[in-house]
Amino acid sequence: MAISYRGKTEIAGIQRASQAVMEILELLRAAVRPGVTTGALDALAAHELTVRGAISNFKGYSPRPGVPPFPGVICASVNEEIVHGIPGKRALREGDIITLDFGAIVDGWHGDSALTVPVGTVAPEVARLLAVTREALRRGIAQARAGNRVFDISRAIQTYVEGEGYGVVREYTGHGIGRALHEEPTVPNYVDPRIANPLLRPGMVICVEPMVTAGGAATRELRDHWTVVTADGRPAAHFEQTVAITSDAPELLTTL
Ligand code: MG
Ligand code: MG
Repeated sequence: MAISYRGKTEIAGIQRASQAVMEILELLRAAVRPGVTTGALDALAAHELTVRGAISNFKGYSPRPGVPPFPGVICASVNEEIVHGIPGKRALREGDIITLDFGAIVDGWHGDSALTVPVGTVAPEVARLLAVTREALRRGIAQARAGNRVFDISRAIQTYVEGEGYGVVREYTGHGIGRALHEEPTVPNYVDPRIANPLLRPGMVICVEPMVTAGGAATRELRDHWTVVTADGRPAAHFEQTVAITSDAPELLTTL
């Protein structure tokens, strides 16, 4: 699959999908509190999709044969869960963190965003993990400029995160987005010469999404075929936003 370069009208389409995603993510964020189940958050998101005439791009998704279709409209990943947590009966507890990763299709265009939310008051070291991951996203997006390459984003994230003593997840990356949830190019959060490093050009629309671990970066997939956890059981955080490359400053599509 080649990289797509979008015109203004197409970027506006991705922005509309991104807006729906952000509105619903804000409702989810506000609903996070001790006692709420991840399944209740999923039901809220499903309802809000329907209200907006939007479709889930997560529910039913299967990355490869043999993986059961994803059953929820949100990925709900708690504490040591990094990504792809399946929403269900688990009730959030004071001091947990929950990553809400959420996407939607509006008029055929895809939106995708994620954030990690504290449940009540969290330990200072956990709050710092969230702050560093959010700052890593900001630094990555700052490099999303025409004339730079994908690895300028990757390097900014990796250098900062590892300099803060945290781990950068290797197995999952950012990506292009548009008519599909995952398009070219791959946007890793680390520099790896085995991955293509294309030039950033106006019209590219990409999801930048650092996944940061408090301990080692090694991951493990649970037997549900979806939930990805840190191998050492330490917490992880994840923030994701969608940005359009322009001839000038990066255009953030996932703002409220
Ligand atoms: Mg994504
Ligand atoms: Mg996402």
